[in-house]
Amino acid sequence: MKVAVCINHVPDTETKIKVSSDGVSIDKAGVNFMLSPYDEVAIEEGLKIKEKFKGEVTALSLGGDSHKETLRKALAMGVDKAVLLKDEGVRDSFGVAAGLAAELKSLSPDIILFGKQSIDYDGAQVGTLVAEMLGMPSAAVVVKMDVEDGKVFCEREIEGGHEVVETKLPAAFLAQKGLNEPRYPSLKGIMAAKNKPIEEKPAVAAEIRVETTAMKKPVPKSAGKILGTDKSVVPELIRLLHEEAKVI
Ligand SMILES: Cc1cc2nc3c(=O)[nH]c(=O)nc-3n(C[C@H](O)[C@H](O)[C@H](O)COP(=O)(O)OP(=O)(O)OC[C@H]3O[C@@H](n4cnc5c(N)ncnc54)[C@H](O)[C@@H]3O)c2cc1C
Repeated sequence: MKVAVCINHVPDTETKIKVSSDGVSIDKAGVNFMLSPYDEVAIEEGLKIKEKFKGEVTALSLGGDSHKETLRKALAMGVDKAVLLKDEGVRDSFGVAAGLAAELKSLSPDIILFGKQSIDYDGAQVGTLVAEMLGMPSAAVVVKMDVEDGKVFCEREIEGGHEVVETKLPAAFLAQKGLNEPRYPSLKGIMAAKNKPIEEKPAVAAEIRVETTAMKKPVPKSAGKILGTDKSVVPELIRLLHEEAKVI
């Protein structure tokens, strides 16, 4: 079984994001980056499929040299090969998907795994776009996967329950948390990953369809008002909620 996992290098969830002086991008100075958490789940699923069916798992990331750090983590977790599709320029989700799809077409995997969304731009688009570009079926928000006889039986998380779907391979799957418990890289894996090669090639150029025109921080919340601590303030509280906050 040939499995490909697409992984993104994203700001650490603890990072306080600042908008750059250009107003359209984040200021990367002092920001720690990490493997996107849903992509960690996707890697784990790829490794489990390989353990069951043999074959190989290739991790792909599109971006600048910094993405090598995330590819090394995938190698440390146990993927067999890592490919960096290099681009330091500007891309939207479509451009990222087009770059990945071009490489995946020649790799021709049976299963392509993605996270359900990347925790930086939260587009939740790349996996489905890639599947469409490659003309293959896809299932999103997957919390259970069983591979059998060239088919995959999946459970997808939907509002208030799970939807059970079935698809033929090749196909793409977008991992949701709960699909598995990602393994920690072992010390042996971390040491071995240091010497494993990362294949580097330029990402194919792609049309940009969506341009970021501004990035804004949320408006800071105004300070709260304390009217008092006994029940005599209730009428005033109701008046303020009605006339000022306009919530009742
Ligand atoms: C070279 C480059 C330049 C960019 N320039 C800009 C810019 O100038 N302004 C701006 O606002 N944004 C920029 N971006 C961000 C870009 O627009 C996308 O939004 C982002 O890469 C993907 O985020 P998403 O939220 O669309 O992904 P989602 O659709 O949420 O991601 C879903 C899944 O797709 C896979 N995936 C996503 N991204 C990658 C990747 N890069 N490599 C491999 N797998 C991936 C992962 O499995 C992920 O879990 C750039 C990205 C790249 C790589």
